[in-house]
Amino acid sequence: KLNRNEPVAVFGPRHSEQMLSHARVTQALQSADIEAELSVAFQPIVDVAHNRITGVECLARWNSPLLGNVPPGEFIPIAERCGVINRLTLVLLRKALEAARHWPADLKLSFNLSASNLSSRGFVQEILDLLESFGFEPGRLHCEVTETSVMWDFKEASRAILALKETGIRLSLDDFGTGYSSLSHVHKLPLDCIKVDRSFVHGIRPDTAGYGIVKSLLALSRDMGIACVVEGVETEEELSVLKSLGTSEVQGYLFSRPLSEADLGRLFTKGMTL
Ligand code: C2E
Ligand code: CA
Ligand code: CA
Ligand code: CA
Repeated sequence: KLNRNEPVAVFGPRHSEQMLSHARVTQALQSADIEAELSVAFQPIVDVAHNRITGVECLARWNSPLLGNVPPGEFIPIAERCGVINRLTLVLLRKALEAARHWPADLKLSFNLSASNLSSRGFVQEILDLLESFGFEPGRLHCEVTETSVMWDFKEASRAILALKETGIRLSLDDFGTGYSSLSHVHKLPLDCIKVDRSFVHGIRPDTAGYGIVKSLLALSRDMGIACVVEGVETEEELSVLKSLGTSEVQGYLFSRPLSEADLGRLFTKGMTL
């Protein structure tokens, strides 16, 4: 029987903790010096036949003086909701382009865009202006979008995507296979690459569900004549299964964690191999 004098726990401790941290992240982000606190980490994308770096994915890092390091999976969704995502994205792109000035001229730069980037008018032009000011060839920039972000506002997203493509910028579909309607959209988007989500790769073997899925996605990308990058490769065993399926490009801790600009630079002075 409920004692009226005892407080009733409506929210479990976990719930209130999450709400508190959500509020703290929002507050810290709104008062953040984005220019000073945000940086970019670069994770190599590797051609497995030659162990050669073909590109890097740019990943946002936030070192907050209030909260310490906050992972992007936490602060990006909040940045979208509190209206700083466009500025944040452009600051990150500018930092990535600054770093890329010192790197091999054929290296591709993969860059994540969020749903709100895609639905904001004028954003594509801002990207272009930045590329131009760095003399960075648009074809070297691969914008990664997720199905969910495209579906969020399909009309505006398609408009932005067509505008991007017109300039020569490449389009990758990120986390492929995790969206709710993957196959119905791939043909509607002018894709250059699909990135297979790491959930299919973990512990992959001929008898795991991921095996059949990765095999089909590789076949799909071949049929469409586009590239395919398999994400989240952590072990030699996974790599050898993926190679047997004909995977040509991978990304994952087995080859390299996301690196600072300085650490990646050192790799390049050793040659592009890992
Ligand atoms: P994502 O785009 O799928 O990026 C790949 C994530 O997987 C990165 O996490 C990377 O560090 C991690 N990863 C790479 N290799 C492995 C591996 O072998 N094993 C495992 N377990 N993980 C691996 P990170 O940096 O924490 O980023 C998380 C997500 O945050 C990204 O997922 C992306 O959705 C988002 N994000 C990061 N930077 C940005 C950005 O600048 N803009 C936007 N809109 N989103 C970003
Ligand atoms: Ca990505
Ligand atoms: Ca991904
Ligand atoms: Ca992801």
